[in-house]
Amino acid sequence: MNNFNKFLEELNNDELELFEKDLKDGYVQKYIDRKKEYLRLKDKSCAVCGNIVDEECFVLTFGEPSIRKRAHFCGYDCMQYFIEKNIRKDIKSIKIEKASKGQ
Ligand SMILES: [Zn+2]
Repeated sequence: MNNFNKFLEELNNDELELFEKDLKDGYVQKYIDRKKEYLRLKDKSCAVCGNIVDEECFVLTFGEPSIRKRAHFCGYDCMQYFIEKNIRKDIKSIKIEKASKGQ
């Protein structure tokens, strides 16, 4: 929180009003969401081929709630391979997401 105060402290009047407008219009929240998504995927590599995945990778969530795991894939082929090789047929809880920018 100290850093955030410092950030506000350094804004001049115009900048402060712009920031307030962005805040009211929801742009700050959009930026925060984008940043969170970026950090969530940053330096994640594909569970099959090891490539660093981008912001539009596939994300697979599987397993029971207590031991839930996430795996990231650079493409559909890698995800399909992973599912065939690693997901036991008795695991019913599988969720596939497509990470996408800013949403
Ligand atoms: Zn891959």
